[in-house]
Amino acid sequence: MRQRNKPWADTYLLEHTNLVIPNPSEYKNKWQELFGNSNPVHVEIGTGKGQFITGMAKQYPDINFIGIELAKSVIVTAAQKVTESGQSNIRLINENAENVMDIFGSNEIATIYLNFSDPWPKNRHEKRRLTFHAFLKRYEDVLNPSGELVFKTDNRGLFEYSLVSFSNYGMVLKEVSLDLHQLNDPENIMTEYEEKFSAKGQQIYRCKAAFKK
Ligand code: SAM
Repeated sequence: MRQRNKPWADTYLLEHTNLVIPNPSEYKNKWQELFGNSNPVHVEIGTGKGQFITGMAKQYPDINFIGIELAKSVIVTAAQKVTESGQSNIRLINENAENVMDIFGSNEIATIYLNFSDPWPKNRHEKRRLTFHAFLKRYEDVLNPSGELVFKTDNRGLFEYSLVSFSNYGMVLKEVSLDLHQLNDPENIMTEYEEKFSAKGQQIYRCKAAFKK
């Protein structure tokens, strides 16, 4: 994701603390309370500019969506998109996904989405991949027993790596698609990267996996 310096980002975030939650660990085990309902909580990691989460929130008004995005200069764009959408079932968090266990309680989440995660192709960067086993351990803790991890990418190398990582971890693969757009899934909401890469003719891969809990 190309990141431009946005000097106004800090001020913008301070003015939108109802949407971009400044101290997310304060809401550990209390996210439904924050949303004011008992709807399931779905989390997207690496939300980028917010197209997916905004589209999903519109499609599923009875689900609470939380987007985690590391880059401040990117999350402000997502925040603008969410504000324009008027969707009240979205919150954003400017954090590293490494910290999900500080932010969410055990079993607090129903679904985690990883969309077009950075591939980190060099072996020495394996630990940074969001499907590395240390990340899976964190997801396992916060996902409820019927929870799912939904992973989409255009990157074949990362997809292959991730399937092996899920399998080595003992996860159950519930769906594997090597060409998602061939399925014409009417519920598929495209991310910014998905639009960009599929327009270039690249296949989109998707896997849905669950932990044995
Ligand atoms: N999901 C969007 C899409 O599909 O259009 C953006 C994809 S972009 C390649 C990956 C995004 O993940 C970037 O915005 C990056 O800042 C974010 N990211 C990478 N590592 C992260 C981490 N450890 N925690 C939270 N966000 C992360």
